[in-house]
Amino acid sequence: MTAVSDWCASICPYCGVGCGVEVGVTGDRVVAVRGMKDHPVNRGDLCALGANLLGMLHADGRLLYPMKRVGDRFERVGWEAARRTVAHRIREIIDEHGPDAFAMYVSASEYVEEYCRGPRAGLWCRLPPVRL
Ligand code: SF4
Repeated sequence: MTAVSDWCASICPYCGVGCGVEVGVTGDRVVAVRGMKDHPVNRGDLCALGANLLGMLHADGRLLYPMKRVGDRFERVGWEAARRTVAHRIREIIDEHGPDAFAMYVSASEYVEEYCRGPRAGLWCRLPPVRL
């Protein structure tokens, strides 16, 4: 394991349970993730998903920015363009088929922190670190 220079407090984004995690960073790279022992939700434990957060962060082919289908391939687009496109399509669906034609399945944890922060927010890297 790469040496950790700082541990930062965060929350697992995978589901609504919101387990506390400690994120080990070196420079701007996450090099370790572990359960937060004194977190009231999980008391240091992580399920299989949370225990493998580090692998997800550095997975080959991980989507790091919005991609838009253009014909039979995908092109990179900016975050604002992606947000506007999605909002426009949702509006079209609702206008054409009614409000019951649209639903979302998301994790409450995702909105706690990083997923609205922009490109390469990549879980915790852009959060102001909370030193442990
Ligand atoms: S560690 Fe597992 S149970 Fe906890 S928030 Fe992550 S996915 Fe949910």
